[in-house]
Amino acid sequence: MGVRIGIGFVVVLALMVALSAIGLRYVAEANQRLKDIAQDNNVKTELATVMHSTLRERALAMHALPILADPFEKDEEIQRFNSQGAQYIDARNRLERMSLSPKENEILALIRELTRELTREAQPVVQSVVEMSIFNDNQAEIFERIRSVAMPRQRAIADQVSALLDLQRQQTATAVHNAEISYARVRNLMLGLGSAALLMGMTIAGLVSQRVARQAKQLAAQAMHDPLTGLANRSLLHDRIEHEIELSKRSNTSFGVVLMDLDRFKEVNDTLGHDVGDELLREVGRRLKETVRAEDTVARLGGDEYVVLIHNLDQKGVPSIANKVLAALDKPFHWQNQSIDIGASLGVSMYPSQCADASGLLRCADIAMYVAKRSGKDYAQYAPDQDRTNRGDLSLKSELREAIQSDQLSLHYQPQIDHRSRCVVGLEALLRWNHPQRGFLAPDTFIPLAEEAGLIGPLTHWVLRTALTQLKALHEQGHLLTMAVNLSARNLHDMKLPASVHALLTESGVSPVHLTLEITESAVMANPSDGLAILTELDRMGVTLAIDDFGTGYSSLAYLKRLPVDELKIDKSFVMDMDEDENDAVIVRSTIDLAHNLGLKVTAEGVETQDAWNMLEILGCDCSQGYFMGRPMPVEKLEAWLQQSVWSEVPTGTL
Ligand code: C2E
Ligand code: CA
Ligand code: CA
Repeated sequence: MGVRIGIGFVVVLALMVALSAIGLRYVAEANQRLKDIAQDNNVKTELATVMHSTLRERALAMHALPILADPFEKDEEIQRFNSQGAQYIDARNRLERMSLSPKENEILALIRELTRELTREAQPVVQSVVEMSIFNDNQAEIFERIRSVAMPRQRAIADQVSALLDLQRQQTATAVHNAEISYARVRNLMLGLGSAALLMGMTIAGLVSQRVARQAKQLAAQAMHDPLTGLANRSLLHDRIEHEIELSKRSNTSFGVVLMDLDRFKEVNDTLGHDVGDELLREVGRRLKETVRAEDTVARLGGDEYVVLIHNLDQKGVPSIANKVLAALDKPFHWQNQSIDIGASLGVSMYPSQCADASGLLRCADIAMYVAKRSGKDYAQYAPDQDRTNRGDLSLKSELREAIQSDQLSLHYQPQIDHRSRCVVGLEALLRWNHPQRGFLAPDTFIPLAEEAGLIGPLTHWVLRTALTQLKALHEQGHLLTMAVNLSARNLHDMKLPASVHALLTESGVSPVHLTLEITESAVMANPSDGLAILTELDRMGVTLAIDDFGTGYSSLAYLKRLPVDELKIDKSFVMDMDEDENDAVIVRSTIDLAHNLGLKVTAEGVETQDAWNMLEILGCDCSQGYFMGRPMPVEKLEAWLQQSVWSEVPTGTL
């Protein structure tokens, strides 16, 4: 397009230049021609005029000669007559030498003919006049000869000369007329070419402005749309919501904002790659668009969050629209013969009953969606009382981001006691958040938030680094303990985890054999292939792997056998109720047996009493952890505990 416009400009420019050149040449030529003709005609006219006037003079002389009495005067008159004749001949000769038109030539030939006759006849006439004036002969006869012979000839010549003059006048007029035509032609040509150039220029200007307008429109559209899916982006959504608010105010209707977050998108993205993730996001966009009406707006806010703005929706219509949106995702997505199931959680907010502005509506829908996610429902409608609890969670999320960087986090360490030696052999690092306003927060309250906010990676990194640094210090003080660190399910999506554990071990100078990583069964089951790869890699590095909360989740013994784990941790709920609940006792006993059969070490959690400790010892449990022996404690307390406790380890001497 740009090239074509450029060519257009060049053509217009060339046209203008050619136009000016042609016009100027035409004008110059016409001018020159007119000048030539005028000059030529001037000369010819002058010569003809001279001929004409000499003829008149000679006619006068012819009349005067017979009358003059004085011979000197007569002689003078004869000389004048002759000189007029000479002038006439001279003028005629000059005229003859000029280039003449055929018509002029014709007239001149006639003049020449007549002149010859006149001279032939005039000479004797003059002669006789002279003689008669001398001898004073018959004057009347001379007059008669002059009148009858000389004068008619003279007149005939004069007529021809007049005809010549007329012809010249006529030719001049024709030349002027031709020049005018020529000018008109030039003017028309110039006008034509000028119009062509103008038209071309206007076309180009039109094309350019069209192109600029199109580009401006494209840019505006880009600024308003999500480049990946082509759906409306956040700012266009805001505009649409505001527009919808105006419409609803005028028509006294209500509308809804549906916020949707895909459930397993991150998994797809991590395991199948970004290309598949992108295609999935596009497909979700397409399905949503097909589901809703043309007057509804589908937008993508980024990541796997979509918003559908439902025009003219009332409270009763919410379940049906929510189910319609969910149904759009029911059909599995296909990628290379593999079908991918993607669920979603929806939050719905309504105008005007719940929120009165665009940001409010989006925030309320977000809170509702969050409630849906937490309660395991597919969708939830916003209710003001959700706000109080969830607004807290939402702000916690952003505060957590800051907490990781600004030293609000700390670790408490809980001792793990070996049954055989009755000595502490390890510690479990348990995370605490010393919130500036809310005080100490237990990990159960904020670990799920960290998972949702995508902060698990940095959080685990922080815990590992802090725990390993602390462990190194304890080793240097002579406490050769192991350190157990908890991993979240989300950590098993991070293929870089083994490398970063390795780097942290190297950095702290702790041997891998002193590090245990705890992971729940369900976390492994949520992502078996990546999970297995990561655990295998960690096992190869020499890190101990423990299955946490064993017995609570989905247990697959067959699968357990394939995992490279070294240890099982019996969940505290069974241990705590063991002495009262026969079932729990059976579970604890069979878990210990099972673990030993698989060659695994068993640690019991939640040992709160001496009885529990004794019973576990009888059952052959390897290790125990609980308030009875030691609560999770900050590092200062731990150091004191290690000094004084009955469970404190027998000094091992050298490291
Ligand atoms: P968990 O791994 O099962 O940790 C043991 C929990 O049981 C700890 O709760 C501990 O304080 C508590 N506990 C220990 N002994 C007893 C006892 O005798 N009686 C009772 N009633 N409870 C006992 P805490 O510290 O609140 O941690 C809760 C959960 O938070 C942990 O469960 C773990 O899953 C998670 N968590 C803690 N720190 C981290 C961390 O750094 N990263 C990750 N991903 N999760 C963590
Ligand atoms: Ca644990
Ligand atoms: Ca546990």
